[in-house]
Amino acid sequence: MRIDLSGLHSGKRECNLFFAILVFIVILAVWGNGARQKRLAETAHEKSLFAMDTYFSLRAYGPNAEAGLTLCEDRVRELEKLLSVTAEGSDVWRIDQEQAASVAEDTFRLIGEALRIGEQTDGALDITLYPVLRAWGFTTGDYRIPEKQELAELLTAVDYRAVALEGGSHSVTVPEGVQIDLGAVAKGYTGDVLIDILRQQGVTSAILDLGGNVQTLGTKPDGTPWRVAVRNPFDRSQVAGVLEVNDMCVITSGGYERYFTGEDGQIYWHILDPVNGMPARNGLVSVTVVGEQGVRCDALSTALFVMGKDRAVAFWKQQGDFDMILITEDGELILTEGLRDCFESGADWAEQVVYID
Ligand code: ADP
Ligand code: MG
Repeated sequence: MRIDLSGLHSGKRECNLFFAILVFIVILAVWGNGARQKRLAETAHEKSLFAMDTYFSLRAYGPNAEAGLTLCEDRVRELEKLLSVTAEGSDVWRIDQEQAASVAEDTFRLIGEALRIGEQTDGALDITLYPVLRAWGFTTGDYRIPEKQELAELLTAVDYRAVALEGGSHSVTVPEGVQIDLGAVAKGYTGDVLIDILRQQGVTSAILDLGGNVQTLGTKPDGTPWRVAVRNPFDRSQVAGVLEVNDMCVITSGGYERYFTGEDGQIYWHILDPVNGMPARNGLVSVTVVGEQGVRCDALSTALFVMGKDRAVAFWKQQGDFDMILITEDGELILTEGLRDCFESGADWAEQVVYID
């Protein structure tokens, strides 16, 4: 009996051909992707600005990056004009001077979000702290230590629940003596707006550093994650660690960001506890929040700093939509479980790292 193997042979030939084509396609795809990534990397554009009382450094890649960054700069100037507490005629200035103002949609949305987070954090974030911040000189740089009595009087006008929003007319009303300041949230909101602009322009790879608030779009042009340093609050020239993230915000509030040393030799920093009007000293020296939305991360980094370790951990367990890194006065580095695979601790820190879940 003869077995006809010709069909089998031609089947094998087809199979080989198919395999060869497949390999060719894969090689083309890899090569094409490599070339695309190389092109992207070669089209880096940067913009540095002084805005919102700090330095912004914006970097985007790709053919639309330059146009996108120009739009970003215009938008930053627009937001600055609306949100500055000191610029005469800004939305915030008008609320503070006139107790009632019809404001731009940006201002309205941002205040709404800040009040919601004020509510969630039980007032740890309170945008009506402005009179107290001013008394300490944090808004002008003329630092002083206010008397207990002065703080007690100023605190009678601190209550975020006194801010009333009216959606139809976008009007914001506050009682006499109540003044707001969006310093804890404005940069995070601005970062969200800029990321949106870049995305709409077709940019797929960008990293924005808004005075230490880092917000990323996509991955690095070579497809690897962005690497964002978390400063060592005890020695700012060093890092406590490095985070690898894509499409995420990494926003830190630290006592070391803005502070002065009083005549008593004590350090007084710019994040205040709304309970007593004093710089918040609840065991933390730095809080980094990692999440998708800049405004929320910014608001929470300030609020968690005020809350201290135990309340911050309880809040994280209850909310669960962000990750965080807490650095305590004792040099402990506490991270939430979600960061385990994307955090690399700096020299001398490995021993201090604790994960919570
Ligand atoms: P930074 O502006 O240094 O990045 P934050 O985002 O933590 O840091 O914002 C701190 C600013 O927020 C302060 O300069 C002050 O204007 C304001 N602020 C301070 N304490 C509070 C608080 N408990 N609630 C709301 N705003 C605050
Ligand atoms: Mg903040």
